[in-house]
Amino acid sequence: MLNIVLFGPPGAGKGTQSEKIIAKYHLTHLSTGDLFRKHLGEGTDLGRLAKKYMDEGRLVPDEVVIGMVEDKITHTKDTNGFIFDGFPRTVAQAEALDRLMGKNNIKISGMIALDVKEEILKERIRERGKTSGRSDDQDDSKIETRIRVYLDETLPVATYYEKQGKFTKINGVGTIEGIFEDIQKVIDKF
Ligand code: ADP
Repeated sequence: MLNIVLFGPPGAGKGTQSEKIIAKYHLTHLSTGDLFRKHLGEGTDLGRLAKKYMDEGRLVPDEVVIGMVEDKITHTKDTNGFIFDGFPRTVAQAEALDRLMGKNNIKISGMIALDVKEEILKERIRERGKTSGRSDDQDDSKIETRIRVYLDETLPVATYYEKQGKFTKINGVGTIEGIFEDIQKVIDKF
């Protein structure tokens, strides 16, 4: 099984590259942001709870995220593996994921981190906001908050995987195809 953590700040291109990785390696996409937006669209309690955090660009509490991920993993049968996109976003989530993987007798193959500098991220998110319909993509202060939250709370997750010898950084600026080629080289060594 191939279980990949695709890591990077908001706007790094995780969603775009996830689609390409899934098409080639037939993995199950587990994007916590997409799952929350689905709940929001369906008007579930979880969606309502997540909304107030997402609207402010803050992180949804760990126990809520972890419960949702556990549910998705335990209800997915017959897969080649998972691509985790936007998760884990805190060290507590990374630890919970390791426990969950252990319980299911599977493990994380590695983390691929997309590296993009802050100025480019902001431009990309604003550009996406014109068509994504996401309110958190259309407001400069929300974009700033998300990047700050990433630096404060999410970046330590990279160190967590680095300590396990599972961290690879890739340049996230270039053509979509070029970046995907670099990603494939990493995955093919997992
Ligand atoms: P982006 O990577 O562009 O910020 P996402 O779709 O991954 O977008 O996430 C959107 C929002 O959903 C986040 O700002 C946050 O409020 C919430 N969210 C998504 N994943 C997580 C997570 N793993 N932990 C906590 N909150 C999350």
